[in-house]
Amino acid sequence: MNAVARRSKIVCTLGPASDAPRVLAAMVASGMDVARLNFSHGSAAEHRARAEAVRRESRRAGRNVAILQDLQGPKLRLGVFAEGRVELVAGESVLLVTRRGVVGSPRLIPVPLPSLARDCSAGDPVLLDDGRVRLRVRRRRGADVEAEVEVGGPISDHKGVSLPGAAVSVPAFTPKDRRDAALGRALGVDLVAMSFVRTAQDVERARRHLAPGTPLIAKMEKPQAIEAMEEIVRSADGVMVARGDLGVELPLEQVPGIQKRLVHRANVLGRTCIVATEMLESMIRSPRPTRAEVSDVANAVLDGADAVMLSAETAVGHDPVAAVATMARIIEEAERGMPPAVRPELAGGDISPGIAAAAVEAARSVGAKVIVAYTESGYTARLVAAFRPAMPILALTPNDAVVHRLALVWGVEAHQVPRLRSTDTVMQRARDEVRRRGLAIRGERIAIVAGVPLNEPGNTNVLTVQRV
Ligand code: PEP
Repeated sequence: MNAVARRSKIVCTLGPASDAPRVLAAMVASGMDVARLNFSHGSAAEHRARAEAVRRESRRAGRNVAILQDLQGPKLRLGVFAEGRVELVAGESVLLVTRRGVVGSPRLIPVPLPSLARDCSAGDPVLLDDGRVRLRVRRRRGADVEAEVEVGGPISDHKGVSLPGAAVSVPAFTPKDRRDAALGRALGVDLVAMSFVRTAQDVERARRHLAPGTPLIAKMEKPQAIEAMEEIVRSADGVMVARGDLGVELPLEQVPGIQKRLVHRANVLGRTCIVATEMLESMIRSPRPTRAEVSDVANAVLDGADAVMLSAETAVGHDPVAAVATMARIIEEAERGMPPAVRPELAGGDISPGIAAAAVEAARSVGAKVIVAYTESGYTARLVAAFRPAMPILALTPNDAVVHRLALVWGVEAHQVPRLRSTDTVMQRARDEVRRRGLAIRGERIAIVAGVPLNEPGNTNVLTVQRV
């Protein structure tokens, strides 16, 4: 059973550091709710093995863990260098060569983007390796670009290239994303995140490649996406504040304000929100996080994030289990001081949000111990969660895939039950499950929400309060 005491969820990126079965099992036991497969790295065989390992360990532990596939998107990367890496020196001039197959050297940087010369202008910055090395465009030279090294440093094969603000003419959903999405469908991933979306159309295009019903998380890491925030939040099922690339594409000091706006808009529109990157960065090497990192995780929770994410801390860090356990403790403590949640803009005349809002209010006023949502698609449980009730939300669903998807949603503990055929059996099952799971004892009250006719998605219209 999941620890319902903690409401915000933990996403862990898998990698070589989490591959040992003993480590993965301990991560599950320590609180991992969602396992992220990062398709910017790793082979199909590695992703397959990790997906299977997550299913195996979560079954063994009896804990619900979802698999999130993170598609690379149109991330521009360097080609290769003769020696695997070079050192760029400040003040020197380099040529960014766009032809494929060119092997790089300290003065010849392979950037396999045919439209590079068209996409950038003199004076534009070019950032390499998450902004650690900075170039400035001088002039176009045919299809290539001459640039000056402003901040030097080492760069190596396949490091990321950012052209902040440039409208780069690459497709939003690349051939690699297409192949990876097909693999994701074959692996039965529960959720998909799309990198570098710029518009709501990018979200809609990506959605066509997913198995039906798979929630799509838009990673917010481009200035254009921040400008189109409202449409993207509305068109996606959730957003990720991808602070790594966001802090390369935009001035770093703008990231905290954008994070707050994004979490707020996602909360208000009832979308899932993940805050990601460098949350416990020092734990890649150190057994303890810094005060600032603890504060960062706690503030993301207090801002209203559904989930916080670990990246290199669990993928390549020295102690992934300690990182998960630390994050769980920080969340639990932050939630003790939880301020009253925002009221989502969802109850505008529609029945389903109206019933969800009423359920949260009724549960509060009668002192209900838990809100049970019997849900076909997960919609009812997500709606109740959007109103951030003080008591746990127990989602009961006949669909295994929905159980997994709900692992990411704030405050929801989900379990599979047989398909129920009458409202009376829903009420009976809700009372039984609550008692069996120790969420309430005989005589205590619970609220139950469902949709009639039963087993049709997107239709929440029944609310009752009962004693168990
Ligand atoms: C990020 O940029 O913060 C992020 C989460 O994406 P990735 O890890 O794919 O760079």
